Amino acid sequence: MRMILLGPPGSGKGTQAQKLIEHFKIPQVSTGDLFRAAVKNQTALGKKAKEYMDKGALVPDEVVIGMVEERMKQPDTKKGFILDGFPRTIPQAQSLDKMLDQLKMKVDAVVEVEVPDAEVVRRISGRRTCQNCSAMYHVEFNKPKVAGKCDKCGGELYQRDDDQEDVIKSRLKVYHDQTAPLVEYYGKKGLVKNVAGQGSIDEIFHKIKQALGAA
Ligand code: ADP
Ligand code: ADP
Ligand code: ZN
Repeated sequence: MRMILLGPPGSGKGTQAQKLIEHFKIPQVSTGDLFRAAVKNQTALGKKAKEYMDKGALVPDEVVIGMVEERMKQPDTKKGFILDGFPRTIPQAQSLDKMLDQLKMKVDAVVEVEVPDAEVVRRISGRRTCQNCSAMYHVEFNKPKVAGKCDKCGGELYQRDDDQEDVIKSRLKVYHDQTAPLVEYYGKKGLVKNVAGQGSIDEIFHKIKQALGAA
């Protein structure tokens, strides 16, 4: 299974990816997580990416594409992958097509998770992320067992710098302007499966499995 999760920031892509990893036993490739790790480790890539991330803008295509190319070369992607947060622009999608051609692979499905803007704002404002393993929680909708601690690894939960209301608005605009056109790009290839992203996390997971013919 080689799949892309497409949807606005806060639509639950990362949350669903965590469940899909367990179900399909394939790795998640999250460009947001890769950038946050680079920022934490204060690498040159991280320093460059942070300028854009803090504003809610996209990191330039060539930077993202180079990073994904490196990641896709790792052997664990041979059995499949879940791309989360990539591609986000038409040039990124075209590069991915080329990359996969060279590796003699193709995308099996693009799952579009649809969530209205107002709900996205509610979700992102209450999002908490594990500093250690990147697991996602919500202060109201998906509480950890112990406040401020990750259920999976005990790591500290924190609020991302870019999960502030003014930055969320910019990220949503970027999504509608630059990322939403990918629905048509992949629609023409017959790959898009629409899933309504409202309801419980388990309900949505079930709908995604159904859409993939794996329920
Ligand atoms: P969310 O899951 O909330 O949509 P991400 O964690 O995917 O956010 O991304 C956080 C930030 O990292 C983005 O706002 C952007 O600055 C940068 N980023 C992540 N993926 C990409 C990408 N494919 N292209 C450009 N920038 C990206
Ligand atoms: P994305 O990766 O698309 O940015 P996340 O998976 O990080 O989105 O989810 C954003 C926030 O919404 C998190 O705090 C998460 O716990 C919460 N969330 C995810 N799915 C749901 C859902 N079905 N209902 C309510 N809240 C959710
Ligand atoms: Zn954790």
